[in-house]
Amino acid sequence: MKIDFNEIPDEGLSLTVDDAEWFPPELERSGKALASLRLKRSGQRVIATGRISATVIGECDRCLEKFDLPLDSEFRVDLELADDSRTFGEEKDHFCHDNELDMEILQDTEINTDDILRQQLYLAVPVKKLCSEECRGICSKCGANLNVEACRCPPEASSPFSVLAKLKG
Ligand SMILES: [Zn+2]
Ligand SMILES: [Zn+2]
Repeated sequence: MKIDFNEIPDEGLSLTVDDAEWFPPELERSGKALASLRLKRSGQRVIATGRISATVIGECDRCLEKFDLPLDSEFRVDLELADDSRTFGEEKDHFCHDNELDMEILQDTEINTDDILRQQLYLAVPVKKLCSEECRGICSKCGANLNVEACRCPPEASSPFSVLAKLKG
């Protein structure tokens, strides 16, 4: 969805996006993706706050199985209109407060809400993905998925303990 900066009313604009047209094709979706977005104008700036609630299909880092990964993320992005006639006050403001904020410069007055949602969804995906905290992963020797099957490695064959047992015996 595209919204023009100047079309945002003074009281702000609230959107609920329940179709998934914005959903990035690189991510596999499982079920519904819900997003809400609120745009509020403040001078040359638009403050976009919102929430994304979606389930994507992730791949576990340990066992490599696919699993449902629910994401629920609240975000805030500040969009600032690029403007040559920026006043001194705003310039100062810019340097004082924006270090920790997620801020983007708008090159024209068009705001692409799909882009905002896509970007925030990517940020919501954790770097480390585990199907479960207790995931036992894959045996590095025989490749068995230890969550569903037993390790197929020969029992204790090369273990230092069995060698020790033989010496003693
Ligand atoms: Zn796993
Ligand atoms: Zn094994």
